[in-house]
Amino acid sequence: MNIALVGNQNSGKTTLFNQLTGSNQHVGNFPGVTVERKEGTVRYKKDMNVVDLPGIYSLAPYSSEEKVARDFIVKNKPDGIINIVDASNIERNLYLSMQLIELHVPMVIALNMMDEVRESGGTIRIEELSCCLGVPVVPISASRNEGVAELIEVAHRTFRDRVFPRQTDYCSGEVHRTIHSIAHLIEDHAEKIGIPSKFLATKLAEGDISLRGELDLNNNEIDMIEHAVKEMEDEIGTDRKSAIADMRYSYIEKVVCGSVVRPKVDKGRERTLRIDKLLTHKYLAIPIFLSIMGFIFWITFGVIGSFLSDLLGSGIDALSGLTEEAMASASVNPTVVSLVVDGVFAGVGSVLTFIPTIMLLFFFLSLLEDSGYMARVAFVMDKLLRKIGLSGRSFVPMLIGFGCSVPAIMSTRTLQSERDRKMTIFLVPFMSCTAKLPIYGMFTLAFFPDHAAVVMISLYVLGMVLAVLTGLMMKHVVFRGKPVPFVMELPNYRLPGIKSVAMLLWDKTKDFLVRAFTLIFIASLVIWLLRSFDLTFNLVSDDSQSLLAGISKILIPVFAPLGFGDWKAVTALLTGFMAKEAVVSTFAVLTGSGSSELPRALRAIFSPASAYAFLVFTLLYTPCVAAVATIRRELNSRLLAFAAVLYQTGFAWVMAFIAYRIGILIS
Ligand code: GDP
Ligand code: MG
Repeated sequence: MNIALVGNQNSGKTTLFNQLTGSNQHVGNFPGVTVERKEGTVRYKKDMNVVDLPGIYSLAPYSSEEKVARDFIVKNKPDGIINIVDASNIERNLYLSMQLIELHVPMVIALNMMDEVRESGGTIRIEELSCCLGVPVVPISASRNEGVAELIEVAHRTFRDRVFPRQTDYCSGEVHRTIHSIAHLIEDHAEKIGIPSKFLATKLAEGDISLRGELDLNNNEIDMIEHAVKEMEDEIGTDRKSAIADMRYSYIEKVVCGSVVRPKVDKGRERTLRIDKLLTHKYLAIPIFLSIMGFIFWITFGVIGSFLSDLLGSGIDALSGLTEEAMASASVNPTVVSLVVDGVFAGVGSVLTFIPTIMLLFFFLSLLEDSGYMARVAFVMDKLLRKIGLSGRSFVPMLIGFGCSVPAIMSTRTLQSERDRKMTIFLVPFMSCTAKLPIYGMFTLAFFPDHAAVVMISLYVLGMVLAVLTGLMMKHVVFRGKPVPFVMELPNYRLPGIKSVAMLLWDKTKDFLVRAFTLIFIASLVIWLLRSFDLTFNLVSDDSQSLLAGISKILIPVFAPLGFGDWKAVTALLTGFMAKEAVVSTFAVLTGSGSSELPRALRAIFSPASAYAFLVFTLLYTPCVAAVATIRRELNSRLLAFAAVLYQTGFAWVMAFIAYRIGILIS
């Protein structure tokens, strides 16, 4: 059985999906987190296959991810729908349910967030709600795993026995007549494509013509439909969209009136409003956001992070030393010893030491996200982003970009306008992703140990400022036009769930570990080989005679004006195109130093000024291969992807040049 999990954004679909299947997809108190559909088998019910779809508010899609969800429900014809409804926001959620019921597919409503309803002192009469809607309703709390087992039972029974929603006419008067006459008209066509005629009639009456093409109507029929709608509009004096929306809402009101007992005061909402008064304050909002971020960076990079990194670094160095001794005493060939110690241990180890820092950073970011604060930041940022021609929605991908550009670029699918989407894709790589963090960390450790947090913040901020400048330029040159208006609901503040924070942390750490042991491992081996042999494949005694040095030297003149015309730096930048962490591992391999010796080795290559210029360059230059491939795929254009690489690398050069000159002046 194929089951679709459908619901509004932020209603807890992914949380429920994780409970049902035992997987750990990313959950966020943040609309627009899930962009692709995810599939999994229900625990203990192996014949049920559930698909987690992006959140939608209606079956009339506006953005491409909403289309993904709509198409899946209407065209793939799942065997059952679990409609997840946020009980603390029931009217708006039922708006979608009304449309789903019309699809005439076996359906169960999972009434989520019951814990919040209870806490605020409200009750919902489940029996009556279920009776009014004509589908089974199961109260649950996905995050606390309450009611989920019962939901599985009810859903399994409903879908196995193919119990369809009871068909209720919730339209009345003029709208009723119009819908029914359209339904009558298109009945044959609808039967052919297997979608209920009443559902399609309502869509057509509403003016949603996205499914009209498939109906294969002739011009005469289309005219008749339009005529009927026109008559309805004249009769009731509102346009078609509002007429249908009014009809749905008045029915919902009736349903809710009879089954929902509201508390006198909604405590959660009140608390949220109180907190929002401060956090979204007209003038204080941005300073507060910056202070929070500053505090996080200070803790992550200044106080605990570097300490933990050092600790892990000395652990890895000790292990490397032991391995070297063990191999030497077993009289292993010195070339092999060098391969293991200078290649693998130095390369992979130098990257691994940054795991504590990355975990800390994501710990804080996921707290902010899960509490609901980040949604406020998007709201506050809307005003700023609007100045560069984007809407607050674009803030979401940019935020994800601090993790990794690849999912960030993919998440631009939540944006409704093609123009916003393209522009956001170009700006995402300016955010400092986690892979750049080891580079920043290693260099600040070597050159600016007393100002670690300041240097870090300066790089993150520089990336954002330059993204803004690029955006401004694009707005006036390439992407004219206006951003779409920003509509995003602000979820109630919640205490972050330990489990979802832990899962997110584990997810990020796992990604990083996997990359370290695959990409970085291979890159380290290759770099070791290339620097140890010359053109004739003889071992070289001085690595500046090696194959690698030969290749990299060609590019030295390009980087000399930036202060790092050194073949090791050039090589590091080249491998950085594969994966940004490889910049650090390459330095480790080329200088043959473990993580505790690496700072000294770097000081032999760079001055503080050229080190900062190098950081600026790595911040800005071409996105890594994976990101470029994603850009190409999402924009569906090789040319645009190439343009992005060229623009960024050129921009990086200019900025690094400026940084170097300023650095020389002040040092
Ligand atoms: P989605 O956008 O529909 O996939 O929603 P998510 O699964 O990402 O969840 C949105 C937010 O609601 C997260 O912060 C969850 O922790 C929270 N949440 C989910 N289910 C419940 C619940 O039953 N009770 C409460 N209080 N919060 C929940
Ligand atoms: Mg989700």
